[in-house]
Formats: sequence, structure tokens, C-alpha cells
Amino acid sequence: KEIDIANPARTQAIMNAYGLRVKKSLGQNFLTDPNVLHNIVFTADISQNDNVIEIGPGIGALTEYLARAAHQVLAFEIDDRLLPILDETLADYDNVEIINQDILKTDLPAMIEAHLDADHPLKLVANLPYYITTPILMGVLSGPIKFENIVVMMQKEVADRLAAEPGTKAYGALTIAVQYRMAAELAMIVPRTVFVPSPNVDSAIVKLTALPPRTHVPFDEPAFFKVVKAGFAHRRKNLWNNLQSLFGKEPETKNMIQMALDAAGIDPRIRAERLSVDEFITLTDALHAEKL
Ligand code: SAM
Repeated sequence: KEIDIANPARTQAIMNAYGLRVKKSLGQNFLTDPNVLHNIVFTADISQNDNVIEIGPGIGALTEYLARAAHQVLAFEIDDRLLPILDETLADYDNVEIINQDILKTDLPAMIEAHLDADHPLKLVANLPYYITTPILMGVLSGPIKFENIVVMMQKEVADRLAAEPGTKAYGALTIAVQYRMAAELAMIVPRTVFVPSPNVDSAIVKLTALPPRTHVPFDEPAFFKVVKAGFAHRRKNLWNNLQSLFGKEPETKNMIQMALDAAGIDPRIRAERLSVDEFITLTDALHAEKL
């Protein structure tokens, strides 16, 4: 059996054979260390019963490990130059499907329905393209698909935000989107040297595990994510100003915002970084009660 794709010599050989030059603009940093890949699959606790979504398979280094461990793998890759390469590198695995799409423009529920067997636990595993780590995570976490866990490599600086405490600089809309449904833990710090080419930031593998369903849920979930995003839209502004930017500055609207903040027991002058997930839920419901 052929050796792993994730090996510096084989990665270079594949790239040479196809004349592939990586596109930095697409965040292409390929993993070449089997230990790191093993660690990712181990952290995600993938079993033969699991279906896995992968974002950005690249030349297939992680995909191959996922295919060996999982029931099925559905991977989204934006760069069509990689399709013939993946055809070859993953030829031995009949449980992998590659979709040539931008993950930010993908209708994930429809894709899952069309391409994966039903009734298997769903996990998300990826070595993310770092230029869009935050929009990918925000999209996945505020979307309708409930993943059992999410194990993703990202830049360390973003990883720090996921488990941040209220009142810290790292605490933001992403933190709240994560903590709304998942528990975050840092699984491993990864050195730059295991990637080809090396990224110019430090990396970390983060594991997000689904929490039991919340007892306190917002009346309108999309509205909750909207209020969270708006709360942090201008980090130096207080909550009062950010809510006015969202809803408007007309006297009547201001009055409604004021009533909602009063009802929620929240001081308009504080910044969003002081609010817990539960307080954002209470605030969203109070705004909703004011018809905002
Ligand atoms: N999984 C491979 C590995 O670990 O070696 C490659 C990871 S590389 C960090 C990120 C991958 O995401 C690249 O293959 C890149 O082309 C792909 N990518 C970048 N933007 C994307 C997007 N919007 N949608 C889907 N894939 C994207």
C-alpha cells in the first residue's frame, strides 16, 4: 500500500508531478506530518459510523486519514486545480466525495442531504484556510446543522478567542457563537514547520464539543446572532451606540431600545464584551418584545 500523502517528500512529488504552485491567497498550507493528522482524527474521535465534513482538502492529506476512520467524508474545495490531484491521491477510497465549491457559498444542509447517508453522527474536521477562519466558523455555528464535534486547525490568535472569558480582549461575537452551543478546548499547539509552505503565524487545533441543548434559548435564533454581531460591530462603542447602528436612531426606535435594555436589566453604557451568552439571549428577547 502506498505511503501517506502527508509526508514532505510525497507532498513535494505530487506538487511537482502536477506543476502545482500553492496559492497563498487561498490559504494553502499543506500538512505533512502524520503525527499531527493522527492527533486530529484522534481528537475528533472519528468512528466507522461517523460522517465527516471537511473544508479545504488540499491534496488530500487529512482527507485520507478521515476516509480511513469514518463512514463517509464530504469535502469542499474551492480550487479546481486540486480536483485531478485529489482524484488520484484518494483513488483508493470510495467513501469520499469532493465538491468544488466555496464553503462560504455552499448550502450545507442541502449538500449533506444529497451526498451523505442519513442517520449518521456528523462531525466537522478541517485544516482551515486561515484568511476566512472567522466567517467559516460563524457560518457553521449559526447555521442549522448540529455537529457532534468540530475539530479544526486555525491560527493560534483566533483559537484564543473561542474559549475567552467575558471582559477580555479576545472575547467577541465568535466567542459567543461558539459558547452558545459548544464547549471549546485547545487540543494542541502546532509548529509552523509541519506545513508546506510554512504559514507565518502559529497554529492550534481546537475541539468544539456540542453541549446538551440549552434550557434558555432565544425566541428568534437568527435575531440572536444578529444582535451579537451588531453588539461587537464597533468594539470601542458601547452597547447603546451599537444597537442604534443596528436598529436606527429615530426617537421612537431609541425609546424602544431603552425599554428593552431596562427590561433586560442591562446598562446601556457597557460594552458588549461584558455580556455573557445568557445576557445576550435575554437582551434579544427583550428587543423582540419591543418589536425590534
Ligand atoms: N486539508 C489540506 C491539508 O491539511 O493539507 C489543505 C489545508 S489548506 C490550510 C486550506 C485549503 O482550503 C486549501 O486547499 C484551499 O484551497 C481551500 N480553500 C480556501 N478557501 C476555500 C473556500 N472558500 N472554500 C473551500 N475551500 C477553500
